[in-house]
Amino acid sequence: MSVDCLFCRIVAGDIPADVVARDDLVLAFRDVNPQAPTHILVIPREHLASAADLAEHHGDLLAAMFAMANRAAAGDGRAESGYRLVLNVGPDAGQSVDHLHLHVLGGRRLAWPPG
Ligand code: 5GP
Ligand code: ZN
Repeated sequence: MSVDCLFCRIVAGDIPADVVARDDLVLAFRDVNPQAPTHILVIPREHLASAADLAEHHGDLLAAMFAMANRAAAGDGRAESGYRLVLNVGPDAGQSVDHLHLHVLGGRRLAWPPG
C-alpha cells in the first residue's frame, strides 16, 4: 500500500467509494465521474502503478480482475448488450491515477476508435 495513492486509500477504506464487489485480490467500485451508464473500476488490492508493471507471475491477479469485471458488467445488466474493458497506460493513454485500474464501460453505444 502506498499512503500517497488515491486507490490504495480506497482499498484501505480511508476514502469512501461506491463498492460493487470485492474479494481477496481485487475491489470493484463505481467511477466518481462516469463516462457511461455503467462505469466501474476494478483494481488490485496490491499497489501496481499500471498494466506496464504486470508480469508472468500476476496470472492469478489478472484472472481475478477480468472475472470481477465480467461479474460487475453482468450485475449492471450488460452481459447481453456488451461492454468495454479499458486499461489506460501512461500519459498518452490519459492515465490519471497511478494505481492499476480496469475500466468497465457499458449501457450506451461506445465509439471506436476512442478519441
Ligand atoms: P484513468 O484516466 O487513470 O484511466 O482513470 C482514472 C479514473 O478514476 C477516472 O475515470 C476518474 O474519474 C476516476 N477517479 C478519480 N478519482 C476518483 C475517486 O476518488 N473515486 C472514484 N470512485 N473514482 C475516481
Ligand atoms: Zn495504490
